Amino acid sequence: MKVFYSPHLESFQPPYQIHFGQVVAASEVAGRAQRVVEALHRAGLAEVEAPQRFPLEAIQAVHAADYIAFLQQANQMPFLDPESDGKPFEVIFPTVFPYSERWQPRAETVMSLVSRYCFDTYTPITAKVFEAARLAADCALSGAEALLAGEQTVFAACRPPGHHATRHQCGGYCYLNNAAIAAQALSSAGRVCILDVDFHHGNGTQEIFYDSDQVGYLSLHGDPSTTYPYFSGYADEIGAGKGKGFNRNFPLPPQTNGSTYLATLDLALDALRQMSPSFLVLSLGLDTHVEDPLANFALHTDTYAEMAKRIAQLGLPTLIVLEGGYNLDRLGELAVTFIRAWEESRK
Ligand SMILES: [Zn+2]
Repeated sequence: MKVFYSPHLESFQPPYQIHFGQVVAASEVAGRAQRVVEALHRAGLAEVEAPQRFPLEAIQAVHAADYIAFLQQANQMPFLDPESDGKPFEVIFPTVFPYSERWQPRAETVMSLVSRYCFDTYTPITAKVFEAARLAADCALSGAEALLAGEQTVFAACRPPGHHATRHQCGGYCYLNNAAIAAQALSSAGRVCILDVDFHHGNGTQEIFYDSDQVGYLSLHGDPSTTYPYFSGYADEIGAGKGKGFNRNFPLPPQTNGSTYLATLDLALDALRQMSPSFLVLSLGLDTHVEDPLANFALHTDTYAEMAKRIAQLGLPTLIVLEGGYNLDRLGELAVTFIRAWEESRK
């Protein structure tokens, strides 16, 4: 399988994150995508290629121009803000959040910008962030282009991940929505469905395509009443306008096991077939595993093989986009199990 990856993705190194007000170690660390790619390569499952550089328009088709400009400005870090006591910022997080739709920030201080464009304190802004995020989007776009050229399955080993990034904001370790950017590019050639099997609800992808019948979104994830991203991911969010019926959420309780998960996956796949897509984008998070430190499902490695088989049986040209997955010791094994089963069922 063609795998798009660049070692430069690992140049972005989030220094820390803020969880319940405490500074804690970053979970989305350099080396995540590398572990996946190296394991696939060792297993003889990957032809690794560097991504092409795509024009910014492909990203602007999904993200607002002012938000992209904000990420680009981070290149000029360290920033000096009038409120920073003369100390330049090497990394910034929001500390104030917009408090009224009536009064939007008018001054472009570092703090008003970061508060407008970041929706949580897990997603640091550093000087390297835009280049890594753009390179990850280029991996996904290179995958989309390969599908349009006739490949049946392509893997985009993206990092940082993408599915929490909305049109206007970063959050959940995500800056540019790789899967959404690729799906938007593919949608010129036919309807696309994005199936999201990351443990967390892909609020960004849902928001971006909520009104669309050209890109459907289906997600299995931890119940948002108890887990991140809290505000969305409920089963009654079904899309709006033309997009009504093209958004489907399948929230699942803590400790969901393999058999419950696979039965729910079958429901999602039935709903997906009814949308009659020409392409599939699979947001593949590996954080549904029982040993993932950030999640609470109870899937074991063998379930990943069965997931791959059932999704592959759709028979659609598929771009697999790496999302979350935070147990560094398991990422390689899970990716190999998934891709090996996928290749076997597509023979
Ligand atoms: Zn996740």
